[in-house]
Amino acid sequence: MKRIAILGSTGSIGKQALEVVDDLGSEIEVAGLAAGSNRELALQQVKKLAPEVVSLAKEEDAHWLKHNLGLEWNTEVVWGIDGLVAVATLTGVDTVLTAVSGAVGLLPTVKAIKAGKDIALANKETLVAAGPLVMDLARTQGTRLLPVDSEHSAIWQCLQGENTERVSKIILTASGGPFRTFDMDLLKQVTPGQALKHPNWDMGGKITIDSATLMNKGLEIIEARWLFGLDYENIEVTIHPQSIIHSMVEFVDGSTIAQLGVPDMRLPIQYALTHPQRVKGSAPRLSWPIGDLSFEAPDYGRFPCLHLAYEAGRIGGTMPAVLNAANEIAVEQFVAGRIGFMSIPSIVAKAMEKHTVIQKPSFDQIFEADRWAREMSTSYAQ
Ligand code: NDP
Ligand code: MG
Repeated sequence: MKRIAILGSTGSIGKQALEVVDDLGSEIEVAGLAAGSNRELALQQVKKLAPEVVSLAKEEDAHWLKHNLGLEWNTEVVWGIDGLVAVATLTGVDTVLTAVSGAVGLLPTVKAIKAGKDIALANKETLVAAGPLVMDLARTQGTRLLPVDSEHSAIWQCLQGENTERVSKIILTASGGPFRTFDMDLLKQVTPGQALKHPNWDMGGKITIDSATLMNKGLEIIEARWLFGLDYENIEVTIHPQSIIHSMVEFVDGSTIAQLGVPDMRLPIQYALTHPQRVKGSAPRLSWPIGDLSFEAPDYGRFPCLHLAYEAGRIGGTMPAVLNAANEIAVEQFVAGRIGFMSIPSIVAKAMEKHTVIQKPSFDQIFEADRWAREMSTSYAQ
C-alpha cells in the first residue's frame, strides 16, 4: 500500500486526487491533508479519510476544525506554512501530491524532497521559480518528480521505454484559452468573469486566468525544461483547441509520439500515483471517431506572456521566479477588477525589466526575488 499526503486537498486537483484515491481503493492511504481556507470541505475530508495530520492556512480555522472534530478525534490539526511543511514531511508517507496554487508550494516541496518523499508535482510554480535547485535536490536525495500537469504527463508517457537522449524536441499543446480568436481591442476589454471560463478544462481560478493569457503555457515551457532536461530551442508550443492531444515528443528519426485522452485531470493524477502500473480508473474514454483535431501557431503579439516566459527561462537565474511572482500579483489584481487583462503581461514585463538577475541563486535568493517582484508588481498595479 502507498501512503500519500495531499497539499491543496480542497482545490480542483486536490478534489480530483481524492476521487482517484477512492477509485484505487485499498491500494492507497491518505495520511496527510493540507488546505487553505475552505475549512468546511477540509472537515468533510478529515471525517472521511481520518488522516494523521491536517493543516489549514489560518490558526483560527485550525481551532474551528479541531473543535468540530471533537475531543475524541485523533487527527492532529496544524496551520500556516509550518503546518504545510508538517504535512509535506510526515513520517511514513511515500509520495506528496503538491496541488497548492502558486509559489507557496515551493518551500513544502523542498522540505518534502529533503525528507525523502517522491513528489507528484501539480504545482508547476515550484519548478518555474527554482527548477535547477529542485532538480539537483531531487537527484541528490534520490527522489522522483512525477509529473501531474497533463502536458508533462503526456510527454512522460510518450517517453516510456525510450532513450531520452534520442528526443529531438517536445511539442506542448495549448487550448488557446477562451480568447484564442479575440483581436487586440477585444482582449483589452476582457472581464474576469469571461476569463474565468475555460472552454475545455475545469480548474482553479489562477490557472484558468493563466490559460487565458497563455502564461500557463509559458510556465509549462519552463516546467518541461527542468523535468525533461531539454533546451528551450527544443520545446515548442502548438495551439490545439480541442485539448485531446495532451502533448507530443519528436525523436531523432523524425517519428512523433502523442498521448491522447479526454481533458480530465484524473488520468494524469492517477498515472503519477500508480506509475509504472496502469490501472482501471473512472476517467472518461475517448469515443471514436473523435472528430477533427486542429492545430495553429501561437500568436506572440496577442499573447505576450508566452514570449515573456521563454525570455525569463533563457535568462535563467532568479528571472523565472520574478516572472512567476509578478504574474501571481497581476492575476490577483485583474481578478479583483483593479487592472485590465492586457496589463497582466505589462506588469510582468516591467518587473522583469527592473530586476537585477542573480545567476545560480540559492533558495534564499529565490525567495528574496519572489518577495521583491511581488512588492514591485503591487506598486505597478496601483
Ligand atoms: P485551486 O485554486 O483549485 O486549489 C488550490 C489549493 O491550494 C486549494 O486547496 C487551496 O485551499 C490551497 N491553498 C491555497 N493557498 C494555500 C496556502 N497558503 N496554504 C495552504 N493551502 C493553500 O488550484 P488548482 O487545483 O487548479 O491548481 C493547483 C496547482 O496545480 C497549481 O499549481 C496549478 O498550476 C496546477 N495544475 C492544475 C491543473 C488543474 O486542472 N486544476 C492542471 C495542471 C496543473 P482552499 O481552497 O481551502 O483555500
Ligand atoms: Mg497543463
